[in-house]
Amino acid sequence: MKRVLSVATSDSGAGAGIQADLKAFLRCGVYGTTAVVATTAQNTVGVTDIYPFPPGVAVGQIEAVAEDIGVDAVKTGMLFNAGIISAVAGAVRRLGLPNLVVDPVMVAESGAELLEPAAVETYKEELFPLARVLTPNVNEAFALLGEPVDEGGIEDCAAALLELGPEAVVVTGGHTSAGADLLYDGLRFERIEGPVHSSQNTHGAGCTHSSALASFLARGFGLLEAARRAREVASEAVGYGLAEIGAGAGPVHAL
Ligand code: PLP
Repeated sequence: MKRVLSVATSDSGAGAGIQADLKAFLRCGVYGTTAVVATTAQNTVGVTDIYPFPPGVAVGQIEAVAEDIGVDAVKTGMLFNAGIISAVAGAVRRLGLPNLVVDPVMVAESGAELLEPAAVETYKEELFPLARVLTPNVNEAFALLGEPVDEGGIEDCAAALLELGPEAVVVTGGHTSAGADLLYDGLRFERIEGPVHSSQNTHGAGCTHSSALASFLARGFGLLEAARRAREVASEAVGYGLAEIGAGAGPVHAL
């Protein structure tokens, strides 16, 4: 079985973060491992506390997993600060970990800030250049580029993000009126259609999407096919989202 490592943050409500990643890995037929870089006190309504671990905590977990279990793909999620991003980039580079999918998590749907603003530069300088795929949503793309992105301008936006160093970019669009994801690998643009999310129960959709993409890359699918399958898994998980869990945006459910 292929092995995918999630380097991310715990969500006590288990809708997003490391917990969503593990559920997505199970759904996608890979063995999931984890390096927990921070933990949140969180439920479906919001994030009440964020506790980052010292950067060495991430490195120790990544090394332990790589030395024994092995890694066919890596997904990074919420990394919170510059020290953690830098340590994770160093470990990925030194250990030569393949198929790095970087989900540049910045702000929760509930509005909570999940990345210190000063860490954006560290992402750009140290982690994006190692990525096989960068998977921002439209809001994250906007925040990374520092300019408004209208739906017609998403191709320009993907091209500008590619300049930051990843081999490819998937701008996820499941929550926009256009609905499509846009894949750009420097050669061609591919629109990846899927159902538009009308559900309120989308907590964890982005985490599920990027974990599914890493899983299908680990399993050997080409980038376009992996991106199509990842979109399908994410859309399905939103479709099965659990309204009855918590009073806020219910968690997605990857079956
Ligand atoms: N909490 C953690 C630990 C996350 O990693 C993320 C997203 O990646 C979120 C919360 C936000 O999830 P959402 O915006 O889907 O509610």
